[in-house]
Amino acid sequence: MKIEVLTLFPEMFDSVFAQSIIKRAVDEKKVQLIYHNLRGYSLNTHRQVDDYPFGGGAGMLMQIEPFAVFFEKMGYLGENKPYTIYLSPKGQPLKQKHLNDLAEKKNHILLICGHYEGLDQRIIDSFVDAEISIGDYVLTGGEIPAMVLIDGLIRLLPDALGDSESSQKDSFMDGLLEHPHYTRPAEFKGVKVPDVLLSGNHKEIEKWRQKESLRLTYRLRPELLRKKNFDKKERELLKEVLSEESKKRQN
Ligand code: SAM
Repeated sequence: MKIEVLTLFPEMFDSVFAQSIIKRAVDEKKVQLIYHNLRGYSLNTHRQVDDYPFGGGAGMLMQIEPFAVFFEKMGYLGENKPYTIYLSPKGQPLKQKHLNDLAEKKNHILLICGHYEGLDQRIIDSFVDAEISIGDYVLTGGEIPAMVLIDGLIRLLPDALGDSESSQKDSFMDGLLEHPHYTRPAEFKGVKVPDVLLSGNHKEIEKWRQKESLRLTYRLRPELLRKKNFDKKERELLKEVLSEESKKRQN
């Protein structure tokens, strides 16, 4: 997969992605990460990329010309244009499903990071395929949102995690929160790990994990349960969990 980023601050990405899983994925050529400094495409002698908004008001807006020059110089017109995402607080809230779809269906993505009051609307209308937000709050620039998207995407690429199982069972992959985890010691200051996890009975362990995943989702994110399509076995387990939770409330 090739991921390009159009930004005013390409150096922001260097330290974040020079570590850990992302670095390994880049080193092993599972992903190509390319950063473009938008100022390099400004025709202005001072490399200016922003100007005052028409109609007045506070702040500055990013101008269309440097974007148009970038797309033209890169040959990113018509069918050659990568799938272009503008990170914006006005976009669709980022969900695991967006990342899964991007990892599965796109092999060339361009991320646009805004600054100031954002972009001249004509940039969005001309070049952007999707607007994605990382949450209902406003940050100073699109670099951190782009990093969030890149990190979430790269860990889904085949073999990026080293253990292909680990992203498949993460929270949200099947619409639920993941079950709790425990590691050694089996008892710490009198607090014990659930017995079933030490039993070696894999069928029972799997059932416990499914139930605890349902229980956590019910307690922390009940709206996810309303959206999920359950199979018969899951519905039975959910019934058990709900009845246990209701008994606990009555005690
Ligand atoms: N005036 C804009 C508004 O009210 O919608 C906010 C502009 S914000 C200060 C500057 C840039 O930061 C945006 O163009 C966008 O790229 C990025 N940004 C800020 N918050 C974001 C969020 N929640 N998700 C994604 N990008 C965000």
